[in-house]
Amino acid sequence: MTKETMKFKTEVNQLLDLMINSLYSNKEIFLRELISNASDAIDKVKFEGLTNKEILENDEAYKIKIGFNKDANIITIEDNGIGMNHDEIIENIGTIAKSGTKEFIAKLKEVKEAGQNSTELIGQFGVGFYSAFMVSDKIVVESRKGGEKEGVKWESTGKADFTIEPTEKQTRGTTITLYLKKDEEDFASEWKIKDIVRKYSDYISYPICMDIEREEKARDNEGKIIEDSEPTITITEETLNSMKAIWKKDKKDVTEEEYKEFYKHISHDYSDPLDRLHLSAEGSLEYNALLYFPAKAPFDMFMREAKTGVSLYVKNVFIMEDCKKLLPEYLRFVKGVVDSSDLPLNVSREILQEDKLLDKIQKNLVKKVLDALKKMKEKEYDKYLGFYKEFGKVLKEGIYTDYENKDKLMDLLLFESTKTEAGKYTDFAKYIEGMKEEQKEIYYITGDSRKVLEKSPHLEKFVQKELEVMFFIDPIDEFISGNMMEYKEKKLKAIGKGEVDLSTEEEKKEVEEKKKELSSITDYIKSKLEEDIKEVRISNRLTSSPVVLVTEEGEMTAQMEQIMRQMNQEIPKTKRIMEINPSHPTIEKMKAIYEADKEDGRLGDFTELLYGLALIAENQPVKDPIKFNGLVAKLMLS
Ligand code: ADP
Ligand code: MG
Repeated sequence: MTKETMKFKTEVNQLLDLMINSLYSNKEIFLRELISNASDAIDKVKFEGLTNKEILENDEAYKIKIGFNKDANIITIEDNGIGMNHDEIIENIGTIAKSGTKEFIAKLKEVKEAGQNSTELIGQFGVGFYSAFMVSDKIVVESRKGGEKEGVKWESTGKADFTIEPTEKQTRGTTITLYLKKDEEDFASEWKIKDIVRKYSDYISYPICMDIEREEKARDNEGKIIEDSEPTITITEETLNSMKAIWKKDKKDVTEEEYKEFYKHISHDYSDPLDRLHLSAEGSLEYNALLYFPAKAPFDMFMREAKTGVSLYVKNVFIMEDCKKLLPEYLRFVKGVVDSSDLPLNVSREILQEDKLLDKIQKNLVKKVLDALKKMKEKEYDKYLGFYKEFGKVLKEGIYTDYENKDKLMDLLLFESTKTEAGKYTDFAKYIEGMKEEQKEIYYITGDSRKVLEKSPHLEKFVQKELEVMFFIDPIDEFISGNMMEYKEKKLKAIGKGEVDLSTEEEKKEVEEKKKELSSITDYIKSKLEEDIKEVRISNRLTSSPVVLVTEEGEMTAQMEQIMRQMNQEIPKTKRIMEINPSHPTIEKMKAIYEADKEDGRLGDFTELLYGLALIAENQPVKDPIKFNGLVAKLMLS
């Protein structure tokens, strides 16, 4: 095959443009990215070589070699990893295959247009291979896949297109040559490269080597330098990184800086992590783990194929990234590595799926993560708050997927309530502490926003009696409330559902009387609203509103119905219960009209108005807005 010229996918161009402008002050990360790719490629050949010896080509001294030439202004990065063939090279570096790129670019533009700093966002995405164009006019990639004969050469100036052609390549793996831009010549120097490697890539588990040129004068028999001798030039290959897998090190031997850099390496996050957990389990279950909580949620957190963030290693050998067996989905924000020495090296994905050991590790890790979060909540509340704002919604998914840890998860949840300021939180434990002596249940109300809920007729009696009510205002709260039946033996009670019993004996008696007294009116309203309402009854939860809609215990609330519809779920409309306030003047007026003349046209109008008011009070649309408007206008004129 001869030389082909191909166009980059448009997103590649956009990404390059944005990157060059955004990461301007931090260009040196290109080397970290290329080394990380080389290391990934070696991980892959090492792993595949376990089952397919052919691709190893008897060349097992894995290493990454960096070269530079000051005069030519070039840097080379060479690895003996898996390599790429013709199709793979097009697929991997001619397009951006990662899902979510489009969304990412859109978001990046938005951030830039708003004048905000975009480096963080770029870091999250992991700029990867293309970052090398920040410092290069031209990049040449020569690669040969393990076990294959033909090599391939890829070349591009990072503008619109790239070329690709066959090439001879003796060694397996990939060599990348960067033709540095004129004003980036600083990078082609020993100290600069050493500096960057140590800073970003020290933990890489393969040697990163470089030939170092030294001019040395001769030495005498005692090893002393002979000052007036003619210097000779020696070249020695030095290893620039310490290679020790950081998760296997003792905590006290790892610096803060190392922890941070390692996080950035594995997470592609540009900002520092919020916190970390360095674990070393011994005994019946042996593993090392280094887990991080990011400071910010990634943009793709709620996308379907969002990755879980933990890689699996066995005895220092990379097995797979994104190992779903290590942590449940609701902890997908945790990034890190787990290294177990009890698994066989040649485990396959299928075996992992079945493996009981991983289940045990997972159980253990979940416990550690939840305990760590609890501790953070207790000891460093502000930090926890930062975490919770980013990841609270994800954590809540655990309430309905991880029954075993439900109580621990409930301990971690924060809610606003009638007793907190807006934007401030309480939790179940604090709620219980503040409960009134006679109070038996934990009250909550669900809805879209605190603002709306605060004015809800449902709250009236609770406010009057100074009973705290939690606001469940995340859409997911609706879903999980069904699974949060109780906390520390106190039942949770949705105050918008079923009956609410806040009345004294005396008040109850009163309601009984009113029931009889107003039965004609309740029957009348029910007959008029039959299509939408299943029952009309006298309320004991209202003080100032005339009516309120109540969902029967165990049925879907109006908000839930709305959410389900937004998710394109076909669901039948649930009829709700209308409660009327027996001492409200409008109800008294209706009663008077009814007693004077059952056929009075105003009765029907008032019924519709009442129903509309009840809907509006909970932020639902009225059934027929035009008709409702007409009724209000008529009322104004009467
Ligand atoms: P990422 O590493 O996040 O996948 P990159 O842009 O850094 O993104 O790299 C894109 C892809 O190109 C890699 O996933 C890999 O398949 C391929 N690749 C890059 N560098 C190498 C290399 N040195 N050896 C083999 N494959 C490579
Ligand atoms: Mg990469």
